[in-house]
Amino acid sequence: MQFELTDEQKLIQQTARDFAHGVVRPRAKELDQTGAFPSDIVKDLARLGFMGIMVSPEYGGSGLDTIAYVLAMEEIASACASTGVIMSVNNSLVCDPLSQFGSEEQKKEFLMPLAKGEKLGCFALSEPNAGSDAARQQTTAVQDGDSFVINGTKNFITNGKEADIAIVFAMTDKTKGHRGISAFIIPRDTKGFSVSRLEHKLGIRASSTAQFVLEDVRVHRKNMLAGIGDGFKVAMFTLDGGRIGIASQALGIASAALEESVEFAKQREAFGQLIHNFEAIQWMVADMATRLDAARFLTLRAAYLKDRKARFSKEAAMAKLYAAESAMWITTKAIQIHGGYGYTTDYPVERHFRDAKITEIYEGTSEIQRLVIATNIFKE
Ligand SMILES: Cc1cc2nc3c(=O)[nH]c(=O)nc-3n(C[C@H](O)[C@H](O)[C@H](O)COP(=O)(O)OP(=O)(O)OC[C@H]3O[C@@H](n4cnc5c(N)ncnc54)[C@H](O)[C@@H]3O)c2cc1C
Repeated sequence: MQFELTDEQKLIQQTARDFAHGVVRPRAKELDQTGAFPSDIVKDLARLGFMGIMVSPEYGGSGLDTIAYVLAMEEIASACASTGVIMSVNNSLVCDPLSQFGSEEQKKEFLMPLAKGEKLGCFALSEPNAGSDAARQQTTAVQDGDSFVINGTKNFITNGKEADIAIVFAMTDKTKGHRGISAFIIPRDTKGFSVSRLEHKLGIRASSTAQFVLEDVRVHRKNMLAGIGDGFKVAMFTLDGGRIGIASQALGIASAALEESVEFAKQREAFGQLIHNFEAIQWMVADMATRLDAARFLTLRAAYLKDRKARFSKEAAMAKLYAAESAMWITTKAIQIHGGYGYTTDYPVERHFRDAKITEIYEGTSEIQRLVIATNIFKE
């Protein structure tokens, strides 16, 4: 395993850092407070090639590897976790399965505008009664000639309000359990497809979280992604990659919290000296930095394995689990180091703390990551 980044990876990291510091970070507080979708920033991300980082240039992407994606994601999420997840969903949950499973026609029609950032995508697996237990899909897709007619409700869909294209999972054959699930690519302006609810959230407030209702949504069978009954396989492959994206988002949140804590500790005085002179503060910072680096190595290892087309399911779950729990721990300590100021909206650490929590929940809760890791260990 290489510990040195390539020149190209370093360039992507620097480009993302410059953009994050110069454009995204100054807007993060306002975006958190208003909950407004950062459409201008998303356009800039598209211009930088960050909406389809791992997609082949043949289909409008940047043709870079997963390590470059992790580096860019960490930088963007360190400035604004909402912007980070908007980018992560488009890259990992939409472009990645289209690249992997899409037909040539689907890649030209859907992947290309998504990878170029001309269109935005979302991934609709969760339902009111099918979250961790995603195989319990109640949305149905019934074949009618050359089309499928889809009915159901999808819950908590990131980018749901703004997305142009959704990957939607539905039961084509209930008798087959998870082998009866199929995936469909559905333009959001299809008749019968509507947003029924928008969530008000603890964090990542500038990223929309929508509930969809699908009422007799008619989709041509050419819009099925992979084969009939392959939907669960598509979802699980996609989420393995998505977990690398969410681990990177957690790294970004945690690195921002650490950086701000160090700066604060160098300026705040108590008992006649700067607080960074206190061992108690130094030890917190040492532990924060150590956990952050450990999470970063786990995430880069998962990305490295994915790039080599090796099995990476367990490693992606480990990265997401550890990075998410570390982000929660590190942001808690960041507030502690800031004292009372950390509890106010005058300092960004309270936002990082609120944003960190979701990384322990979406794309599989921490309990589900432990289940994936343990299942893989006992099967080895
Ligand atoms: C802001 C946000 C954005 C989201 N974005 C998307 C999206 O874009 N697309 C999408 O499809 N979904 C999305 N989700 C849904 C998300 O993936 C689910 O919320 C998550 O998988 C958990 O499902 P649930 O909420 O139904 O909780 P449940 O599955 O009901 O879990 C409740 C609790 O039980 C625990 N639990 C469940 N099963 C087990 C088990 N077998 N062993 C141990 N513990 C268990 C869970 O860990 C959790 O603690 C999003 C959610 C949120 C909040």
